[in-house]
Amino acid sequence: MAMLDLDTSDRPARAEETLDPADWEVLRLLGHRMVDDALRMLATVRDRPAWQPVPEEVVAAFRAPLPREGREAAAVYGDYRRLVEPYPVGNIHPRFWGWVIGSGSPFGALAELLAATLNPNMSGLRNAGVHVEEQVLAWSREMMGFPETASGVLVSGGSEANTFGLAVGLQAKAGFDIAREGVLGAPGRPTLYASAQTHYSVEKSVRLLGLGSESLRLVPVDADFRIDLGALEALVAQDRAAGMRPFGVVGTAGTVNTGAFDDLEALAGFARREDLWFHIDGAFGAWVALAPEWASLAAGMAEADSLAFDFHKWLHTPIEAACVLVRDAEAHHATFAAHADYLEPLPRGIGHLGGQFANLGPQLTRGFRALKIWMSIKAHGVEAFGRLVAQNIRQARYLADRIVATPALELMAPVPSNVVCFRYRVDGDGAASDALNREIVMRLQERGIAVPSQTLLHGRFAIRVCVANHRSRREDFDILVDAVVALGREIAAAG
Ligand SMILES: *Cc1c(COP(=O)(O)O)cnc(C)c1O
Repeated sequence: MAMLDLDTSDRPARAEETLDPADWEVLRLLGHRMVDDALRMLATVRDRPAWQPVPEEVVAAFRAPLPREGREAAAVYGDYRRLVEPYPVGNIHPRFWGWVIGSGSPFGALAELLAATLNPNMSGLRNAGVHVEEQVLAWSREMMGFPETASGVLVSGGSEANTFGLAVGLQAKAGFDIAREGVLGAPGRPTLYASAQTHYSVEKSVRLLGLGSESLRLVPVDADFRIDLGALEALVAQDRAAGMRPFGVVGTAGTVNTGAFDDLEALAGFARREDLWFHIDGAFGAWVALAPEWASLAAGMAEADSLAFDFHKWLHTPIEAACVLVRDAEAHHATFAAHADYLEPLPRGIGHLGGQFANLGPQLTRGFRALKIWMSIKAHGVEAFGRLVAQNIRQARYLADRIVATPALELMAPVPSNVVCFRYRVDGDGAASDALNREIVMRLQERGIAVPSQTLLHGRFAIRVCVANHRSRREDFDILVDAVVALGREIAAAG
């Protein structure tokens, strides 16, 4: 063994190193500048393109070698201003309506800074953050109509929330000790049911749970893109007869493609009769619960065994923030709780509150997601969020009305909530029409006019607008309609 050289007498004395600034005042001033710039950027976002590509020379700057030595914080901030800030996804812009992405909020962003500053590990150590998160969960139960006895946990997004809700459902309804034996011990294929319009994260969940995608049975939808209950019933009966083990059914409150809401009350009744776990994916649609005039879309939501929803979509908290609520708190705990000597709680001190949150999901070290939600809800009040949901639905209807009134355009699906699918009309075959509309979407984005996304409805290409944006105004939808018509003419004329 090498001897440690403990004789330091001939070395110059020097302070130990730290990441704290040598001069706090310098960093404090820089921090102020960063906050000023960030808020100014948000306040003027409407004046900039909805999106712009990252230029080649900027991309090249990201190939610089690993920094061995540090630079001034101000210089690094300069890199951010030059290389990053001008080229965001664009969901902070009033004419961003692609996929389902919330806009965030200025106050939420400041809360995120505070969360990172305290930097607590929210596994369940005794600290005020635990109470913040518990209050956010209590508010969540109240907003979604869940009983006070229900359990819940904050997670990264709807995909995780779906996975964790279904993990609890699989364990609760497996009918054998799946925690010990795993799915290999299943007497028949555990099978889950969901509509063909279900979000693709449900298939990822099923694969992640070790079941394989064949364990997910996709049920046809009706003309309104809602799950066909007759077909569901027939499929479950047929699968049982074939020796499969149906364990759950997923209902969607707000599908990505068209904003459809399954008949959740009927699904709840069916799940109860068939002894199936009833999971609802309400990633964005669950929030209609806050808008009294639209809450009936999600009637039956409170009957779910587990419910997934995103704060970072229609509640506009900074990404990432979502929640899964589980009616049976014991089933939730039993799915994820595990023992480790180093996590045993002491009766006093910082302890571990039994690893509280760590026992409700796979994460141990957890971020302080709760703070931005807590501060946003306190600052704006839930009624403001309900009004914004209603405002977005009214805007979607306004857009749909304008499309119907514009002969060059065609509405492609009913508009039950905040999603509008349409296209520029083209004479001739479907392929030419698909190509032209695809080109319209790309030019809208490349010219920074607006960001819709796209999907296929009955195999036909659709321009898709999902209004989950608190900065959008009616005139923004007029800009979109006019631009789509103009681009359609431009592309058609060019042949
Ligand atoms: C966005 C979405 C998801 C996935 O949520 P993430 O937060 O993106 O992980 C699941 N279901 C629906 C209906 C969604 O809109």
